[in-house]
Amino acid sequence: MTTRRDFLKTSAGAGVGAAVGLGSVKPLRGAPAVHRSMVTPVAVASGNGLEAVTTAIRVVNEGGDTLDGVVEGVNIVERDPNDSSVGFGGLPNLDGVVQLDSSLMHGPSRGAGAVACLEGIKTPSRVALDVMRYTDHVLLVGKGAQRFAVSMGHQVEDLLTERSRRRWIEWRARMSDRDDYLTPEESGNRVPPFEDAEDYGTSLLDSHDGVRPLGTINCNIVSRDGDLSGVTTTSGLAWKIPGRVGDSPIVGAGLYVDNDVGACGSTGRGEAVIKTCGSHSVIELMRAGMAPVDACLEALRRVVTFTTEARLRDPEGRPNFNVNYYAVNKNGEYGGAAIWSGARFAVCMDGEARHEDSAYLFERGS
Ligand code: ASP
Repeated sequence: MTTRRDFLKTSAGAGVGAAVGLGSVKPLRGAPAVHRSMVTPVAVASGNGLEAVTTAIRVVNEGGDTLDGVVEGVNIVERDPNDSSVGFGGLPNLDGVVQLDSSLMHGPSRGAGAVACLEGIKTPSRVALDVMRYTDHVLLVGKGAQRFAVSMGHQVEDLLTERSRRRWIEWRARMSDRDDYLTPEESGNRVPPFEDAEDYGTSLLDSHDGVRPLGTINCNIVSRDGDLSGVTTTSGLAWKIPGRVGDSPIVGAGLYVDNDVGACGSTGRGEAVIKTCGSHSVIELMRAGMAPVDACLEALRRVVTFTTEARLRDPEGRPNFNVNYYAVNKNGEYGGAAIWSGARFAVCMDGEARHEDSAYLFERGS
């Protein structure tokens, strides 16, 4: 009987042949031609990723791997108790439990790892990394993902902060005026007002349903050698139905990396991104020759086409939610785009990090 070890031994030889074979495959029409060592390393991320892109570029400039760079970058936001959209301090599901989603891809080795509905681990991206490095699987979910994380040395902790718990308590009280939970107004002066009451309002168009906050971090990088990696990590839609999985941990939706072409990730309404295979679509459009920003806009037009539900459209028939894409190609060109104007994304090139305005399909207020 051939054991897995024997198989790996023989296939290692075959791998060399395969690599030679791949090298001779002609690039697709319009695919970016890359001259090694001519790329200026660039990292792009969602607007909350200024520190993440800075860290990712630092790691890569110090000779580190592209995937280690982006994971180290997003770990800052995952561990930040004040970012209520990712990791520790993320807003919980309707039961008050924080459930996290994350995926990552390593361009040079074509590796992928992901976790969904993971509870109690501050850095789901690191668990996704362990799935990629230490298992033969791509996606682990729920209790199994948590058991795997514990086996790899991750610590289970309470991910609710005082702030995120209070926001959930208030949301629960506002769900119905026929239950026994009191809103701050109903309880008179007995409950001190929430300090951050005003920061509830991610704007209507940024939220999934006009009421609930969203948020995620995606970070993608290209190195001097044209190697690419990306990661997306989130606590997902606030107050979601337990077990709901967004786009972030779905390879091809919330993230896609092809080392021949580029890396792309998304934030915003995950259901819309899943239905259109969002990030994979952006990569395929770039493979066909589109610049990153044009590929992002074209993939967003598909989201608009797929939005047929009246409850998800404004009076002009446009989506009443937002989706953002962030992309970088193998040449170091990058772009970000959203359905609605006003979005920004983070970029780091040459050690300098800044925000740039995302391109968009529709002007807010128009
Ligand atoms: N895309 C995430 C989700 O649907 C949420 C977000 O990006 O804000 O879970």
